[in-house]
Amino acid sequence: MSFPSDIEIAQQATIKPIKEIAKKIDIHEDDLEFYGKYKAKLPLSLQKEKPNGKLILVSAMSPTKYGEGKTTMSIGLVDGLNYIGKNAVAVLREPSLGPVFGLKGGAAGGGYAQVIPMEDINLHFTGDFSAIEKANNLLSAVIDNNLQNPKYSLHIDPKSIAWKRVMDMNDRTLRQIIIGVGAKGNGAMREDGFNITPASEIMAILCLSKNLEDLKFRLGNIYIGKTLDGKAIFSRDLKVVGAMAALLKDAIKPNLVQTLEGNPAILHGGPFASIAQGTNTVIATKTGLSLSDYVVTEAGFGADLGAEKFFHIKCAQSDLKPDAVVLVATIRALKHHAGLTADEFKAENVQSIEKGFCNLEKHIENIQKFGINPIVCINAFPEDYHSEYEKLIELCASKGVKALVSTAFAEGGKGSALLAETVISTIETASNNYHTLYSPENSITEKIEIVAKEIYGASNVNYTNKAQTQLNMINELGFNQFSVCMAKTPMSFSDDEKKIGRPTDFTITIREFEISSGAGFIVPLLGDVMRMPGLPAIPNAERIDIDNEGKIYGLS
Ligand code: ADP
Ligand code: MG
Repeated sequence: MSFPSDIEIAQQATIKPIKEIAKKIDIHEDDLEFYGKYKAKLPLSLQKEKPNGKLILVSAMSPTKYGEGKTTMSIGLVDGLNYIGKNAVAVLREPSLGPVFGLKGGAAGGGYAQVIPMEDINLHFTGDFSAIEKANNLLSAVIDNNLQNPKYSLHIDPKSIAWKRVMDMNDRTLRQIIIGVGAKGNGAMREDGFNITPASEIMAILCLSKNLEDLKFRLGNIYIGKTLDGKAIFSRDLKVVGAMAALLKDAIKPNLVQTLEGNPAILHGGPFASIAQGTNTVIATKTGLSLSDYVVTEAGFGADLGAEKFFHIKCAQSDLKPDAVVLVATIRALKHHAGLTADEFKAENVQSIEKGFCNLEKHIENIQKFGINPIVCINAFPEDYHSEYEKLIELCASKGVKALVSTAFAEGGKGSALLAETVISTIETASNNYHTLYSPENSITEKIEIVAKEIYGASNVNYTNKAQTQLNMINELGFNQFSVCMAKTPMSFSDDEKKIGRPTDFTITIREFEISSGAGFIVPLLGDVMRMPGLPAIPNAERIDIDNEGKIYGLS
């Protein structure tokens, strides 16, 4: 019998009323805002300023294009911690419709390590993405309205407008568009474009805000562009910050759901990991840490992007500190970094594990630079060989790192019990000298250099002429204290996805910068990073269906 699909497993599960899940972490039913029987929003009042829980970050080695299972392993670890009698919650991102209908599929875990109701979670959920989209597009509408009305005009230079519209769909035709075509009453004609909703700065802001006051402050700080005589214009100048925040009144509240084993999971926010910080809201993390002894959270892509930004952006802005870091590795990713192709992954090949280890090794060293010794979680696939696990465990041990196999995909929490025990004993006994690699006082170029050299292993950083000019503007605007949110391919430590393994002697090129002054970071763009993806030739959407009884098919 073949292994059931993710959606088959999710639909066969017995789902509990959400009030029962809430009770597990001492949330009173009266504090829940119900979205049906199985989803609820949590009030901001559950979040403590200095919560007591321990924070476990799950990141990964440089992934293959399939994803190495961070979400699956995070959910498995929460079920594993509860399985060994601990009190743990998962705090994760909400999925975007782009990948659901595109190539990668949903983001609710896999196998027996999933969050449910997976159909709801993957399709609209509680409407947070829509609220973000509306707030973003309100600002766009108001900018264009301002260009239209000479009496109230801020005299914004249309060519300088950096703000774009958003929609949560992979639709490449909207990347670059002309708006305001036709009669004068149709508005000023100018070039605009759409980003996908997780790439909106509003998403990044929502995910970094501490509360409503902070949200409004950040929304007001969004950089729009310049007036015709060169003065910087911010969102607050357009006087709709209050309306934008009002649209986000529910989106700012975390969403409670459950794992397949009935443990609490808080899903909230979903910024891209490539051009934003790639991790759930600060409010959700702090709420989880206030309600539970252990929070397991995930930071997008490999640790060179995910963990680095988690530390330098999320933790730095919110006084959070990781207590443990888990790096997910797979045999297939190690073989990929050894230069093998997908059709060669299935054969036993211990030598390739030794060869591909260089990639994981660099990620291990990077986490150690932040003062934490990571734990390696080997996500078990049916085609793996024990000899390959043994080699990998031995290689990790040579770096002073514990590595263990998790079978959470096939077995749920039981399959992650050993990982759970190891995480607990590490938190209780290992030294934790957590520190960042740069501070706000470093200049933007110093920050970029530190990340490029220390984390990527680059020997040099180049700037295009355009990037140089923008750097001068960033300095003039007084944005030097901001963090840098590197936008680069997750497939390689370098900015060239073909450079697999552990590249050395390479230069990275900063093509241009984007300013996210509301979120509090500057985005250096490396290579061709996409803010509006396209659909593949045969999109996942073709497999999705609903029957006459309302049962959904084809989500993965
Ligand atoms: P990430 O969060 O790192 O992007 P996910 O946890 O979303 O990765 O997993 C990516 C895909 O791989 C999902 O479709 C998931 O079902 C599948 N997957 C994860 N772990 C396993 C495993 N051990 N065996 C088979 N498929 C897996
Ligand atoms: Mg994930």
